[in-house]
Amino acid sequence: MKTLIKNARIISPDVDIPNGAVLFDGKKITAVYLEHEELPAVDKVIDAGGKMVVPGFIDVHFHGRSGHDFCDGNLESLTIIANDKIQDGVTSFLGTTLTVGEEQLSAALRSAAEYMKAPTGAKVAGIHLEGPFINPKCLGAQNPEFIRKPDIEMVKRLNAIYPVKKVSYALEVEGALEFTQQLLALGITPSCVHTAAPYKDYLNASRYGFKNLSHFCNQMTPLHHRDIGMVGAGLLHDEAYAELICDKLHICPEMIKLVFKVKGAEHIQLITDAMRAAGMPDGQYDLGGMNVIVKDNAARLENGALAGSTLLYYTGLRNVHEITGYPLKELIKSTSWAQAQALNLPGVGKIEAGFAADVLILEDDFTPAAVFVDGERKL
Ligand SMILES: [Zn+2]
Repeated sequence: MKTLIKNARIISPDVDIPNGAVLFDGKKITAVYLEHEELPAVDKVIDAGGKMVVPGFIDVHFHGRSGHDFCDGNLESLTIIANDKIQDGVTSFLGTTLTVGEEQLSAALRSAAEYMKAPTGAKVAGIHLEGPFINPKCLGAQNPEFIRKPDIEMVKRLNAIYPVKKVSYALEVEGALEFTQQLLALGITPSCVHTAAPYKDYLNASRYGFKNLSHFCNQMTPLHHRDIGMVGAGLLHDEAYAELICDKLHICPEMIKLVFKVKGAEHIQLITDAMRAAGMPDGQYDLGGMNVIVKDNAARLENGALAGSTLLYYTGLRNVHEITGYPLKELIKSTSWAQAQALNLPGVGKIEAGFAADVLILEDDFTPAAVFVDGERKL
């Protein structure tokens, strides 16, 4: 089936085309047309009315939505999460786990395998293990009960259930450097977080190809003038890919501006790190067995620590646009293209012939007006 979206402002990395058109054939984009180019005969025409048409967002780090958490470990929860992420403009994501026991992790990964047999909403592009190999002194909202040393055999067991694309751990814990090399050998992206590691740990790991930092700045060695830590490493090393939670609570607007100014959008991955209260009213929620209170959109443990966000993906892009004022053809690199590069996800992140027809039509305030996943309209 051939679908044409016409009268579109097409925004893709380094591209901003007014009055363009995008053609899908089945699951793929097959052509992009400039203004005045002759349009082909198709099965279905959608008039975007001059609205923005952008690549579908990829959320590589979030735990839940609509009252459900990926670690609930059942098909029903994951189906609700994946269906509702569509409303936020997310066409694929990494099922992100918490620091919980292996049995619970296995159940979550089984739910991903089951869901992807017949996906109804956003696609699960793989798994992101956040923990359990973290520094117990940098918990944030991770449960200390389940922290363990890096264990590649455990990762292999989980990877056999559903492909693990990314593991976030602390670079300073015993065995982390060897673990980094083992992950890279398996084609899994290693990333550092919940860490107090000094800068030298980044340098040592980077010699093997390490270059990812999860929820950059949060639960991470801050910038200090005698040891620049992991935040300094992320700013100094152009090749470093930084995940950023842009809800204006986890990181202040000035820091968001600074990170974009120093790194550019190409190496920034907007994430939500949302927990199950995203898309839900204020109240009490569970996160990995811990009680979380959500008030005025901020999710916190009883001790006041931030416990994930309630951010909806497109709101993060809107915030970054307001804060930086950067052109959209730049900012749009941080919503799927950087993720695709950091994780070696082929064929996603651009509006271009040959890429997946994961496409959004956005209102002026970035709210999704239409969402296509593999060429199929989901919203
Ligand atoms: Zn975290």
